[in-house]
Parts: sequence; C-alpha cells; structure tokens
Amino acid sequence: MEDLSQRALLGLDRAELASLVESLGEPSYRAKQLLEAVYRQRVESIEQISTLSQQLRETLAEKGVSIGLPQIEKRFVSQDGTVRYLMALADGQSVETVWMPEGDGGEAGDGSEAGELAERFAESSSLSASGAKALSEEEPTAALKRCATQNQRQEQGFNQRQNQGLNQKLDQKLNQGQNQGRSTICISSQVGCAVDCQFCLTALLGVKRNLTAGEIVGQVCAVLKDQKVSPPEDRINLVFMGMGEPFLNYENFVKAARLLVEEVGIAERRMTVSTAGIVPRIHDFGGEKIRPKLAISLNASNDELRTRLMPLNKKWNLEMLMAAARAYPLRTREWITFEYVLLGEVNDRPENAREVAELLRGMRCKVNLIALNPGPGIEFTTPDGERLAAFQTILREAGIPAFVRRPRGRDIYAACGQLKRTVEIATAPAP
Ligand code: SAH
Repeated sequence: MEDLSQRALLGLDRAELASLVESLGEPSYRAKQLLEAVYRQRVESIEQISTLSQQLRETLAEKGVSIGLPQIEKRFVSQDGTVRYLMALADGQSVETVWMPEGDGGEAGDGSEAGELAERFAESSSLSASGAKALSEEEPTAALKRCATQNQRQEQGFNQRQNQGLNQKLDQKLNQGQNQGRSTICISSQVGCAVDCQFCLTALLGVKRNLTAGEIVGQVCAVLKDQKVSPPEDRINLVFMGMGEPFLNYENFVKAARLLVEEVGIAERRMTVSTAGIVPRIHDFGGEKIRPKLAISLNASNDELRTRLMPLNKKWNLEMLMAAARAYPLRTREWITFEYVLLGEVNDRPENAREVAELLRGMRCKVNLIALNPGPGIEFTTPDGERLAAFQTILREAGIPAFVRRPRGRDIYAACGQLKRTVEIATAPAP
C-alpha cells in the first residue's frame, strides 16, 4: 500500500482519490464522498466528513491523511471591501490570497466592469455590427493563421474599426454602472517569486517554493468558506495573479485549474492566469484541454525598457513574447489581455503608448493599464490620472481596447504587486 502519511486530500483528483480508497479496501463510492466533502462542502477535518463510517475516518486519521485546507492566519480588510488573507500552509510557510467583492476593475473573466461588459457584449446577439461580436466569432484556427501572417494591413484596419466600436459600447455601459456578480479571488501560485520585476513587492522575497495543486485550490476553498459563498450558485471569478509566477509552477497550476473547474465548479471562462512571459509555457498552455484565459504582463514598450523592468526579458524578449502571443490559439469570444503597469516618467510617455500600439497591432487583445501601486523599497512613482488617460487614449485611437484598472485594497497592501507575506505591513496610507 502507498505511504499515505502527510497526505492531503486537497489536490487529489477523481482518479487519485479512487486509488486511495481502493488501497484502503473501501468501496469505490467512497471516492465520490471524499470529492464532495473536500471540494464542495469544503470541510476542514476528516472528522467532519459525516458520510464516511467512523472507522474509515479513524483509519484515515491514523495514516496521517488530512484535508490540507490552508489556515487563515490573518485578515486585513480594506475600506473598499477587499480582504487580504494571510494563509498558513502545513510546513509553516505562508501566502496571500485576496478577495475583491466587486472585482478588480479590468480583467475579462475576473468579474470586473470591463471584463463583465466585454463578455456580455460578446454574448449579445444585438451586436452583429459591432466590435465584440465580430471579434468573438472568429474561429481559433482562422485567428491563428491570421495572426501568423504579418503583412495584412487591410485586415488590421478592419480590426481597428471593430475595436473602436467595442470601446464606445463598453464606455456607454460602464456609465450605466452595472456591477452584478463581480466577486473575484486572486490566488498565489508560489511562496514568493523568482522573476524579479523591479516594481513588484513580491519580488523582494525571492522564491521559497512552489505551491502544490492542493495549496492553490485550497486558497480558493478557504476564501469561499470564509465569505460564505458557493459556486456555481454564486458567480465567482478567479485570477491567478497573486504571489508567484504560475508558469514557473506549471504542472501544479494546470492541475489546480482543472480541479477548480471540475470539482469546485468555477467556470473556465471566469478564470484568468497572468504570466510575466514564460514563452515556452505560453506555447504549452495553448494546448491544454482546460485553460483559463491568458493575460501577459507586458509593462514596457521596447526591449531596453522591458529588460530593465523585467530581467526575464533577457531570456524571452519582446519578439519571442509577441510571436507566442500571436500564435496563441484563442477560442470563440476570447482575447488575450496585456497588463501594463504605468511607472511615472519611466514607461508612461506618449511614445511608449505608440510603441505598445505598434507591438499589438492587429492582435485580438485588450490592454489593462495599472497605475503603479506603491510600496516600501519600490523606487518608482505612480503617474497621475491625466497621464493614464493620455496613454489610454493613444491606445484606443490606435484601435486597441484599453482599460484603466481601479486599484483594489491599496490601503491594506492587497493591490497588484503588493503581496509580500507581510504581517508587519498591515496598513498603508490611504491612496
Ligand atoms: N507573475 C505573474 C502573476 C502576477 S500578476 C505576472 O507577472 O503576470 C500581478 C500583476 O500585477 C502583473 O501584471 C504585474 O505586472 C502587476 N504588478 C506588479 N507589481 C505591481 C505594482 N507595484 N503596481 C501595480 N501592478 C503591479
């Protein structure tokens, strides 16, 4: 029999639970009971799985099998309702997970305004003449071929007109203030991060270790439990945008995404993974059966600047990154998101915006602009609203849907790039 000690049930899929149950000489329906208890009821201990016989509960406990739910060690609550959780893992390490009751202001599939509206537009049949519909109906293979061909100026002109239509429609809707079902959980994939982006607080930690699939899924289960919400009845969006680089913990991330879809019940289209640009994994990811939407942290408009801000650009430069993005097989109603953190006087000039527009020309994509969230040890400044708006306007005039992401939970260091496993930094000055 396999060694079950130190084994967490969270992270095991159907087949693995079936073999565990079998190894204990139990009937196969026990596997289903375990799945239900772990991923749907989200119990904290084996003892709480009331469907199991008392004897089986004891056997599991004796063998050192646990649920493996991360423990909520601390909660920091923002003025805007955002909650930053400090989650303790079994080995004493910890990560941060963020709950945003109203989304985070920009990612499709994360429940944010721009994301929700873009999605709704894409789904709306009344939009046959507008951008979203036209963008959404393209078959992935066609998109692939089109993206792979560089010299199709005519078609790019078409795309620009369509995208401008989308921009206008989205703005109209945003003004009407719809905000249903936008709760979003932002989860971590590693303890710390190895990528070393110069504007990100998590980078200061270095990387301690990868999270297991169970620890990734466990963050979601712990937050759902704490917030007393339950998918699919409650619409929950997920972003893999917390601590760490998901594509440097690829296998565990992919398994976690599968468990979240199949067992926890969160729809694939409500999940987005963000990568700093691990090019070979972008290629791999395009071939996964279950895959959240893809976001890429661009953050600079040319190689010199990007290498300065994101040292990984030395290994995978913009040409390689853009080639991977253009080859990425988009599904119906899907586009790639590019995130761009604006750093005052560094990458926020009009010429940077024009370079970004050039890089993305003709791609089925949108851009989320994020003003730098400040933090101790980060040398950059946050540009003001006018500079952000000017940058956004240049992109939009070039036909690229561009959105400004509202910072969530900046006052508790819960915003993008601020997660640092900190107990000491509990609160920041109000933004
Ligand atoms: N490692 C992945 C996942 C983290 S996502 C990635 O890099 O994509 C975190 C997002 O926040 C990234 O788009 C990143 O560029 C952005 N970010 C990092 N530091 C930030 C900061 N200080 N202010 C605003 N955004 C930041």
